[in-house]
Amino acid sequence: ETIGTNLRRTVEQFGERDALVVRHQNFRATYCELWELVERAARGLISRGVKTGDRMGIWAPNRFEWVVLQYATARIGAILVNINPAYKAIELEYALNKSGVALLCLARGFRQTDYLAILSEVRDRCPALRAALVIDNDWNALLADADSVSEEQFAGVEGKLQFDDPVNIQYTSGTTGFPKGATLSHHNILNNAFFTAEGLGYTERDRVCVPVPFYHCFGMVLGNLACTTHGACIVVPAESFDPLAVLETVQQERCTSLYGVPTMFIAELNHPRFGEFDLSSLRTGITAGAPCPIEVMKQIQTRMHMREITNVCGMTETSPASTQTGRDDPLEKRVATVGRPFPHAEIKIIDPVTGAIVPRGVPGEQCTRGYMVMLGYWEDPDATARAIDSTGWMHTGDLAIMDDEGYVSIVGRLKDVIIRGGENVYPREVEEFLHTIPGVAEAQVIGVPCPKYGEEVMAWVRLRVGETLTGDDLFAACHGRIATYKIPRHWKFVDTFPMTVTGKVQKFRMRELATAELR
Ligand code: ATP
Ligand code: MG
Repeated sequence: ETIGTNLRRTVEQFGERDALVVRHQNFRATYCELWELVERAARGLISRGVKTGDRMGIWAPNRFEWVVLQYATARIGAILVNINPAYKAIELEYALNKSGVALLCLARGFRQTDYLAILSEVRDRCPALRAALVIDNDWNALLADADSVSEEQFAGVEGKLQFDDPVNIQYTSGTTGFPKGATLSHHNILNNAFFTAEGLGYTERDRVCVPVPFYHCFGMVLGNLACTTHGACIVVPAESFDPLAVLETVQQERCTSLYGVPTMFIAELNHPRFGEFDLSSLRTGITAGAPCPIEVMKQIQTRMHMREITNVCGMTETSPASTQTGRDDPLEKRVATVGRPFPHAEIKIIDPVTGAIVPRGVPGEQCTRGYMVMLGYWEDPDATARAIDSTGWMHTGDLAIMDDEGYVSIVGRLKDVIIRGGENVYPREVEEFLHTIPGVAEAQVIGVPCPKYGEEVMAWVRLRVGETLTGDDLFAACHGRIATYKIPRHWKFVDTFPMTVTGKVQKFRMRELATAELR
């Protein structure tokens, strides 16, 4: 099945129900209305020369046109290239050229950034880019252009599409290096969305609040696509994350499900006006992207009424989800693990050196196989071959443990493990300990080259305001409480850490900087 045929079935079943509500644009559409818009946009794109297999970039924050274009490109077999709204000139140029974008649909700007100025700066250096469509100015013209493409012509294009055609190029966050373009098919993301919705128990009565960005698979697959597979309604509170808008939206739209990364839930729970809102319509939702602290999870379940909240883990290359906690799992499974494998997915934890499956409870590299594994990295067969082996296993680069009941916990990244004199040190474990020391606001641990042990442990620490702890103080605080070989011997005090645009700490940058400094 393709994304278009799936949407058609939902429209036939639930045509009069709400499909999409975008509060900041005052936009509401039923499934029939959404279908009509998608069809007009698809024909408009054909009239502008977009062909099956062409890459169409989208560079805009969350708005209704984003969703319409998501389905319109899928219905003509064009490949949607998601471009991060936070990108600046160098990153935009990289993404456009890397995937050969022919048509770029963009907003005029976002926050303080003028997209049109950036585009004119890079345009000459993007030879594949044939045209740009400014959503704010050209939207109605695009829909009007639909009239120049007949229904037969459109049906001819749509009818040729196959379920395993590429439909999307998604860039990874760039946590461990330059972002990589994962090429995903209809089959990949449609199934991932469908089983996510099954895991959350969605029906046409659900109303799902999506404050996470559409440019990331969390928003466009687990949000939009999961809703449309089950006839649920996508509810968008704002252009980008705004905790107050989320609280207002949940109350006024009677949302049953809410998504976020843990920091978003924390911002909502801590909002000074939290108590004014009635959130009792909430039942379920997703936290993903990073581990959720136990106290936060408890409050999500009680103060936000999301008893059935699930933790989802995945990566761009696996469409994205590969594990999910159950709706009635006990609290400790929801916080200490990322759940069990998705239906019909296989997960194994291997010794990264020998490739053998490790015993339960022992850390190793997580490998994933199934419908969610990407077609490959866009035009990069070497990188694809390094990631997906000849038997179809995606080597995720994540270090994980599987327990006796099949629940997976993420321990860290394989690339970040420190091997000090033959002993493995897992940065995450040391970081968790450092966070228990009063005065430490945030700590990140890396390995740096060391002549004696091969690698030595180094901590970067952000102290709480007004604290004056030294490296010796912190060493003393660790001494006798964690194994001596795990205690950082190098300490660096910082105000910020190198970060990706999706808010993840880039340890490879920390290693580069620290290695240069220590030399
Ligand atoms: P890059 O591949 O460019 O270095 P990235 O791996 O951070 O960047 P993404 O695909 O956006 O890019 O993120 C996937 C990673 O995020 C996973 O490999 C995992 O390490 C982490 N992750 C995702 N969900 C969770 C979760 N629920 N709990 C803990 N970690 C998670
Ligand atoms: Mg990755």
